[in-house]
Amino acid sequence: MLKLPSPIQSVTFRNHQIYIKRDDLIHKDFSGNKARKFHYFLGHEFAGISKLISYGSSQSNAMYSLSVLAKMRGWEFEYYVDHLSLYLEQNPQGNYKKALQNSMQLHIAKPPKDIEPNTLFIEEGGRIQESSYGIYKLAQEIANWMEQNHMQSLHIFLPSGTGTTALFLAKYFTINNINAKVFTTPCVGGKEYLAKQFGMLESSSQYHPTILESDYKHHFGKLYKQEYQMWLELKDTLNIEFDLLYDPYGWIVMMEHIQTLNSSPLLYIHQGGIIGNESMLPRYERKYKQ
Ligand SMILES: *Cc1c(COP(=O)(O)O)cnc(C)c1O
Repeated sequence: MLKLPSPIQSVTFRNHQIYIKRDDLIHKDFSGNKARKFHYFLGHEFAGISKLISYGSSQSNAMYSLSVLAKMRGWEFEYYVDHLSLYLEQNPQGNYKKALQNSMQLHIAKPPKDIEPNTLFIEEGGRIQESSYGIYKLAQEIANWMEQNHMQSLHIFLPSGTGTTALFLAKYFTINNINAKVFTTPCVGGKEYLAKQFGMLESSSQYHPTILESDYKHHFGKLYKQEYQMWLELKDTLNIEFDLLYDPYGWIVMMEHIQTLNSSPLLYIHQGGIIGNESMLPRYERKYKQ
């Protein structure tokens, strides 16, 4: 059902060779790092489970991916948000629209504290230990590729939300003595917030990825002209569509640190999520399109 291992492609961007791990191609609906994080729930038996509950924002990639997972497994899906904008309610689009089409039941309330025995509860954004199952598979694919290509060392870059993907990648390489170093940047919150997120999943900082930042402050979900330009440049020169919430900032930070990062072969992880562009792109076009 999932197309694994996902391909790795070599591109030239602004005269630098960069490899791209195309996790966006894993599955048309269940793609990117959400497919990795929720892989565990696809491949295991859950006796007596008939319902999935999670919470977070009304446009999140995780919400949509969980609706796909629930549909694949024949589970009900209840999702809790603390608010829903009138605009989105009246104009369903992007992840929200597609999750509703997958029979998501939306509640504008706090998620329940007591979970019934027939229910699986998944933390916001998939920040859970079970995510390591699929992310370790991603790490294994990368390690196999390094070996096939006789690579002695590798630098990996990916932008973070909860930091779950970056953390478990880094942990796998450290545990298994693989010379691949993981770099990331916070797209939600700042450096301290991200470090705290790492700590919630893994207390030992020897397993934590290296955090890089740009010199401008990035607020999640806000529009930045330079990010829109980066997104367009990537689309035009590489012919690859990236997501608009995480990737443009990720590429900007990566290019700002390219001298350090390029001291080993460099791999960027495309974490999917382009369904969210359906709502982000019109916002960008209204603001900046000439
Ligand atoms: C969810 C998501 C992220 C953030 O992943 P974390 O594991 O929470 O850091 C990054 N990029 C895309 C496209 C996503 O959908």
